[in-house]
Amino acid sequence: MELITILNQCYHHKGFVYQNARLIDKGTPEIEVNIVPRKRSKANCSGCGKPCSGYDHLPKRRYEFIPFWGFKVFLVYAKRRVQCRDCGVVAEAVPWARGKHHLCDAYMLYLADWARKLSWKEVAQRFRTSWEKVFHSVEYVVDWGLEHRDMSGITAIGVDEVQWHKGHRYLTLVYQIDSANTRLLWIGKERTEKTFSSFFDSLGEEAISQLKFVCSDMWKPYLKVIKARAGHALHILDRFHIVARMNKALDEVRASEHRAMKNDGYEPILTKSRWLLLKRPANLTTVQDSKLKELLQYNLQSIRAYLLKEEFQHLWDYVSPAWAGNFIDHWTTKVMRSKIEPMKREARTIRRHKDLILNWFIAKKAFSSGVVEGLNTKVKLTVRKSYGFRTFKCTEIALYHVLGKLPVPKLTHEFY
Ligand SMILES: [Zn+2]
Repeated sequence: MELITILNQCYHHKGFVYQNARLIDKGTPEIEVNIVPRKRSKANCSGCGKPCSGYDHLPKRRYEFIPFWGFKVFLVYAKRRVQCRDCGVVAEAVPWARGKHHLCDAYMLYLADWARKLSWKEVAQRFRTSWEKVFHSVEYVVDWGLEHRDMSGITAIGVDEVQWHKGHRYLTLVYQIDSANTRLLWIGKERTEKTFSSFFDSLGEEAISQLKFVCSDMWKPYLKVIKARAGHALHILDRFHIVARMNKALDEVRASEHRAMKNDGYEPILTKSRWLLLKRPANLTTVQDSKLKELLQYNLQSIRAYLLKEEFQHLWDYVSPAWAGNFIDHWTTKVMRSKIEPMKREARTIRRHKDLILNWFIAKKAFSSGVVEGLNTKVKLTVRKSYGFRTFKCTEIALYHVLGKLPVPKLTHEFY
C-alpha cells in the first residue's frame, strides 16, 4: 500500500491531489509528499473564498503534517495567486492550513489535543517539535472555539479570582455554573471593578438579562459590579469562599499562638496541629482523631477558634433562610465575645454580608461549593503548570483550552 493511498483515505481535499511521496534525508529522514491542484480546478480567494482565475504561483512551501512512525511528514505545495474581482491579486486559500500557518490543521488539532493532557513543553518534546508550534496550535484551536462557541442559555455564573505569577497579581475568572454546563467563560487581568465590568460588556445586554444567579466571594469590587450590572439576578456568596476565609482566620490564630507559646517556653503542643484543625473531623485518620481529642482538652485560643469554626458549619444544614439568619446572628454574637481577633473579623464580615449569604438558602442550595471549588482547583493547577509563561496571553489560552469546553473544528478523519 502506498502512503498516498493512506493520505487520500484520511486527509483528502477536493480539488487537490497528492503526488510523489518520498523519503528524504535532512540529517534525519523525513517524508515529503507533493500536493498539486487537480486539473481545471479553480483556486479560492483567501480574502472572500470565491473561486477565481489564476494569476501566478508563489514559491513552494512545506506544511508539517502528523508524524508517521517516527518520521516527520511534510506536504509540499506552491500556492497559486488569484486575480479576485473584489480582493485584487491575493494568495489562494488552501483547505489544509490557515493563513500563514506552517502546520496542517490536522497536526495543530493533534498537538492541541495532547496539550490538554501534557504541558506544552512535554508535547513539544514528545513530538520533536518546538514550544512555539505547540503554542500556535493551541492558540488556533482556542480562537476557533471562542468564535464558534454557543453563548446562549447561560443562567448562572460565578466569578472568582486566582493569583497569577509571583507577588500580588490576580486574574478574574468568570464561569458558567448551570448544572447542565459548567465551563470557563471569560478571563480578565487584575481583579478590579473595571476588569469585571468589561466581562459584562462582552456578554451583552440580552445575555445579561437572562442571568438568574451570580455567585461570588466577598471581594468588594465584584460585589459592586454585580449590583450595578446584574442587579436583577440573585446574588449568592458561595460557601466555598466563606469556609476558606474562616479556615484562614483559624490558621492565623493557631500560628500566632504557637509562636507565642514557643517564645514563652511552654510545651509546644500545637506543633503539627495545622491539619488537625483545618480538616473536617470526618476526614481525619484514626491517629489524627485521637490527637485532636487530646488537643481539645487544652484551654487554648486555637481550640476555641476551632470549635467556633466547626459550629459555623451547621449553618449549611438549615433549609429555611429565616432560621439560617437566626443562626448567623447567634453565632456572630458569640464570636464577638470571644476576644479572638481574627475570628471576630470574620464574624463582622459575615454579618455585613448576611443577606448575600442567605441568598444561598433562597436559591435552595442549588449552587454547591463543589462546582466553584472544583473549577478553582483546576484553574490553579493550569496556572501553576504554565508558570513558565511570561505573558497573560499564554495563560489565557491555556485556561480556555483546558476549562472552556470549546468546540473543536471537525475533520473527516479522527487522527487521535
Ligand atoms: Zn476575493
